[in-house]
Amino acid sequence: MKKVLTIAGSDSSGGAGVQADLKTMLANGVYGMSAITALTAQNTQGVRMVQEATPEFLAAELDAVLEDIRPDAVKIGMVASPALIHVIAEKLQGYGAEHVVVDPVMVATSGAKLLADDAVEVLVQELFPLAEVITPNIPELSVLTGQEIADEAAFQRAAEHLAAQAGVNVLAKGGHSAGEASDLLVMADGKGEKWYRGTRVENPNTHGTGCTLSSAIAANLAKGFDLAESIGRAKSYLFGALLAKMDLGMGSGPVDHSW
Ligand code: PLP
Repeated sequence: MKKVLTIAGSDSSGGAGVQADLKTMLANGVYGMSAITALTAQNTQGVRMVQEATPEFLAAELDAVLEDIRPDAVKIGMVASPALIHVIAEKLQGYGAEHVVVDPVMVATSGAKLLADDAVEVLVQELFPLAEVITPNIPELSVLTGQEIADEAAFQRAAEHLAAQAGVNVLAKGGHSAGEASDLLVMADGKGEKWYRGTRVENPNTHGTGCTLSSAIAANLAKGFDLAESIGRAKSYLFGALLAKMDLGMGSGPVDHSW
């Protein structure tokens, strides 16, 4: 059995964060573990309260897991603050973690901020170098590059810029655009690009889609697929979870991880 660790925030409504990650891992045939960076009190309508883990507690979670069950891949989601990012970077380096997928979570689908303003630079400096791939959506790509992204050409330029500047493979997710849900993988060091042309599923219930995709990529990397293939498989899984058209809660509900 392959093992995958998620380092992320808890979503009490079960649609995003650690809960989405663990459901995705189960559905993708790997054993899921978690180190929780923050508790959120939220539902499909929004985030009501956030309680961050202390750096000491997050370090204890990571030591406990990493000393005992070595993960074959790691997914990083909500990391909240610079102090927590330092802990994650130190522990992952110390234990030589492989196949690290970083979802640079900044803002919840509902608009709630999940990353401190002063943490973006630390995320770039300390976690991006450890990542096999980072998975920004359009608003995150815009923050990370300082570029406005109004069309597909600007989207491609921003992804290329980030991959070159940060020296990391970038999967830029186009789901926030008005058109089709096309994603672009730009390999670092000019090693090529690959478009994933997806058909947009008309489903307003998209809470946790970013978490689901990055966890499915990590699960497939753990199973031994290469990066391009892992992304393709993860996109197919998310497509099915959206297509199942589950409709829970009064706001933007979760996708069906069990389809
Ligand atoms: N992580 C946590 C704990 C969250 O609550 C959320 C959104 O609410 C996210 C990550 C990001 O969610 P999404 O996958 O919808 O971008």
